[in-house]
Amino acid sequence: MKKVLVSACLLGNKVRYDAGSLSVEHAVLAKWQAEGRLVSVCPEVDAGMSIPRRPAEIFQGQGASVLNGEADVIEKDGDIVSDYFTKGASIALALCEKLNIEVAILAESSPSCGSSFIYDGSFTGNRIAGEGVTAALLRQHGIQVFSQHEIADVCQLIEAAGE
Ligand code: SF4
Repeated sequence: MKKVLVSACLLGNKVRYDAGSLSVEHAVLAKWQAEGRLVSVCPEVDAGMSIPRRPAEIFQGQGASVLNGEADVIEKDGDIVSDYFTKGASIALALCEKLNIEVAILAESSPSCGSSFIYDGSFTGNRIAGEGVTAALLRQHGIQVFSQHEIADVCQLIEAAGE
């Protein structure tokens, strides 16, 4: 059975910066969790960040530009925390490689997990098209990344592959 990587906060784990979760109610997700298909990851906490922690956003860049050193992830008070984010992305990738995971469902808009949108670095709630650091690294290695709003697409993918 092909495993699917999932953001820990989407499974109800209180690992977000504000010590909350994003629990997603979805029959398919519940079924996959019950059959042991899901592999939970929180790149930020796995990299050593605390719960709770200050909000962070990518400043003037994208996940890929953080990975190549052209942009940083900053906390709301201005501290640079890029190293945590790149380490967390590497941990997620290592998990995928170890378990032969080719598909991920990650929490939208996060500076780590966002796959279609991220916040713009101004801490004003403004979202822009883009992806977080973990989503970017996984995609660079051929892993298909979806958000919690695209679970039906993941379902089709897995059913089509008969996995
Ligand atoms: S890093 Fe990803 S898994 Fe962890 S709290 Fe943020 S969105 Fe959720």
